[in-house]
Amino acid sequence: PELFLPERPNAKGFELRDRPTLLAIEAACRAFDDHSWQGAPITAAKAATNPAQPVCNPADPSDIVGHVIWADAATVELAGKAAGRWDAPAEERSKVLNAAADLLEANYGEIFALLHREAGKTLLDAVAELREAVDFLRYYAARSDGAPARGVFACISPWNFPLAIFIGQVAAALAAGNGVLAKPAEQTPLIASRAVHWLHAAGVPEHALQLLPGAGEVGAAITANPAVQGVAFTGSTQTAQIIHKSIARHLDPGTPFIAETGGLNAMIVDSTALPEQAVQAIVESAFQSAGQRCSALRCLYVQDDIAEDFLEMLTGAMDALVMGDPRQIETDLGPVVDAEAKAGIVAHIEAAQAQGRVVKTYPTPDRGFFVAPTLIKIDGIADLEQEIFGPVLHVATFRSQDLDAVIDAINATGYGLTFGLMTRIDDRVQHVTERVQAGNLYVNRNQIGAIVGSQPFGGEGLSGTGPKAGGPLYLDRFRAHAAKESAQ
Ligand code: GLU
Repeated sequence: PELFLPERPNAKGFELRDRPTLLAIEAACRAFDDHSWQGAPITAAKAATNPAQPVCNPADPSDIVGHVIWADAATVELAGKAAGRWDAPAEERSKVLNAAADLLEANYGEIFALLHREAGKTLLDAVAELREAVDFLRYYAARSDGAPARGVFACISPWNFPLAIFIGQVAAALAAGNGVLAKPAEQTPLIASRAVHWLHAAGVPEHALQLLPGAGEVGAAITANPAVQGVAFTGSTQTAQIIHKSIARHLDPGTPFIAETGGLNAMIVDSTALPEQAVQAIVESAFQSAGQRCSALRCLYVQDDIAEDFLEMLTGAMDALVMGDPRQIETDLGPVVDAEAKAGIVAHIEAAQAQGRVVKTYPTPDRGFFVAPTLIKIDGIADLEQEIFGPVLHVATFRSQDLDAVIDAINATGYGLTFGLMTRIDDRVQHVTERVQAGNLYVNRNQIGAIVGSQPFGGEGLSGTGPKAGGPLYLDRFRAHAAKESAQ
């Protein structure tokens, strides 16, 4: 497959580990420390206004980041009536999307500040997220062509990548010439409002991109709206199932539905793996972004011969993680997204504590929705009933002769998003990667941080419908003939 090399591999050309550059970025964000943002529905037809609600900083809920006006059923109906495809020629669409990428790069200080304060993202996460958003815009812009658009897409995006995934869905739909009704996650409406502002400023027409911030009922109103001819969704498997039913009930049965959902992602470390490399990959995969990535490692299998020493090294690396204010470059772990998320993860840790299965955890700050990185011992992946979306890693041991049984157990979860393997046996790489059912397989590296163009991202089974985001097949699902294909 063709490799896409973004014009500028990192937003602003930042070298991620370059401390002076990061200090300069940190200073640029500080200008927005007390800034207050306003979010609201952005529709082509004038909508009635609801009262504004505060949006708070997950690292410090007393810090009000801004206010948002939610959309309601009437706003969705108005937006649906005003929505239409983006009829400009492909070259024009491509030019506008590249101009939007330029605008995002130029406004990096404001974007990083918003990612810190609205979404609790660390500086390294924020840099990577802007880079991904820019890459999505340029990648899809480069693939915009004269193929007919499908019509109007609903784009429903998550809070864990409030800029990158929001922009990724919208840019794909627009590059193919569709109109968009976009619903960002209710936790992160402000960054989405700014993103739409920049897309409009770059030249995307108002009728082709409307923003409808709100909770689940707004999403439900959008996916039942007769203007909608396709849905792109990233979020939980459960919500994907609800949307799928809604499409079946309300819309044309051929309506394309592109879903990227959850995972119960595993990694296998055998006795030949390089321990230092494996530990670093595990810490990044399980705890970066406070574990709030659908790609994150949830269940680690370590070969029993090395387990004792290996876990000592792993917990030593966990001791070095810095949890705290996401704005500071030293911080490795910011907060989880809100009080509800924290309560769910803490309940899971407490249940494990009651059973004596917690290998390692740490105290958390009193303020803010922080959850400490935690390691929990389990017998195997079958013990995990659901995805715990936070900095909690489960670990099991296995005997070499049981490797195939471990793979069968991983496949039996029904999910299939990411999978990691640490080994220096070549035949084993071949054997394991052929058997494991997962969308993205990573060998001797971390299992997060897929890169637009060179590592398209998406799952199978309960983890998603495909096609993979940031890959050559994605845009095709947003074109008119997709309807015929899925009806066959
Ligand atoms: N694409 C991201 C990664 O590779 C994960 C996306 C998600 O969490 O939804 O880490």
